[in-house]
Amino acid sequence: MKKKPFVTLEKLQEITEKYPTPFHLYDEKGIRENAKALKEAFAWNKGFKEFFAVKATPNPYLIQILQEYGCGCDCSSMTELMLSKAIGCKKGDIMFSSNDTPEAEFRYANEIGGIINLDDITHIKAVEKAVGYIPKTISCRYNPGGVFKISNDIMDNPGDAKYGMTTEQIFEAFRTLKAKGAENFGIHAFLASNTVTNEYYPMLAKVMFELAVKLQKETGAHIGFINLSGGIGIPYRPDQTPNDIRVIGEGVRKVYEEVLVPAGMGDVAIYTELGRFMMGPYGCLVTKAIHEKHTHKEYIGVDACAVNLMRPAMYGAYHHITVMGKEDQPCDRLYDITGSLCENNDKFAIDRYLPKIDMGDLLVIHDTGAHGFAMGYNYNGKLKSAEILLHEDGTFDMIRRAETPRDYFATFDCFPIYEKILEDEDRLYK
Ligand SMILES: *Cc1c(COP(=O)(O)O)cnc(C)c1O
Repeated sequence: MKKKPFVTLEKLQEITEKYPTPFHLYDEKGIRENAKALKEAFAWNKGFKEFFAVKATPNPYLIQILQEYGCGCDCSSMTELMLSKAIGCKKGDIMFSSNDTPEAEFRYANEIGGIINLDDITHIKAVEKAVGYIPKTISCRYNPGGVFKISNDIMDNPGDAKYGMTTEQIFEAFRTLKAKGAENFGIHAFLASNTVTNEYYPMLAKVMFELAVKLQKETGAHIGFINLSGGIGIPYRPDQTPNDIRVIGEGVRKVYEEVLVPAGMGDVAIYTELGRFMMGPYGCLVTKAIHEKHTHKEYIGVDACAVNLMRPAMYGAYHHITVMGKEDQPCDRLYDITGSLCENNDKFAIDRYLPKIDMGDLLVIHDTGAHGFAMGYNYNGKLKSAEILLHEDGTFDMIRRAETPRDYFATFDCFPIYEKILEDEDRLYK
């Protein structure tokens, strides 16, 4: 399938007149339609709730759109909790699925009404110490170990993952928590990442539902919710078939009726913590070709770099690229598309066939709406870009400004050198 940007060249030219490249652009229409489709796919479950994984796209203005569809926030750090509180999350709207958690974060998560999802059995003591008691509603993260397979395909390797409790531990944790006053239990597992198949959630649901039935029977703990977490992927490559959220919702419903309903657990709420699926396709990185280099290979240098999008450098991830205005031209040039970091892995594409690129051409790097801007860092002193939201009516707004040196040097603001370093900022960054 041909991947088409959600924005036209004309619109991008209008946006770049106001906001210079590079920037991340988000598609409000796409975000809304997808959030609505998720809600509908799980409408059969009375308590269904998506807790958006804040780490994927920590922009308050984007998460507020999801809130209109009933979404809460999944957090795993102090700042993610702070952001979630600031956008109006109330009791029960925050899932705190952290690991290796500092005491102060447990305390704050509980204080603002978050549900604590324990990554480990030893965290029972840690929460008691941090909070002073065991909250009535509490969740435990499960890791069955081994490999997670669909037919003969290995999807992921939970046995190698640092997260979650073993089967034995989760039974013991439930008994301990119950004895310490917990009343409403949840279970959680994240067994495979970026799955592009409609079978992942239903298969995970089967594992979790069967575990829930056993846990409730053997420990007497009341299970109120089962959290299928994240892991529903997106088609980064043009040859991949996108997931169909309706088929996924229906698949989970079937297993629910087969396993939970006969066990008298037909009131259990289904929770999700999707990140990539909620935002990934509805963001792109817009960058401009600024150099061409003909050496042992053909290079196109752009004004974005791995600081703006780390996935290709970090995992060799594929991100589709459209050269705007040249969609119908033959892809007869073989390029490496590079950023400016002094790191040879700072390449958005290696050996990619694209149309002939001219200096000044705008490139759209697809599917950067999740784990894109968010993973950014400041290597080489490069600054993070702005984020812009394209509304349904074609208007657009900046929803995060670009960094300037003042931001980069902010942690020197208590030192004498600070003002000296910034002497030229106003002149250089208008
Ligand atoms: C990262 C993460 C998610 C979101 O994962 P996606 O692949 O973006 O859907 C959800 N829950 C937890 C605990 C995570 O760490």
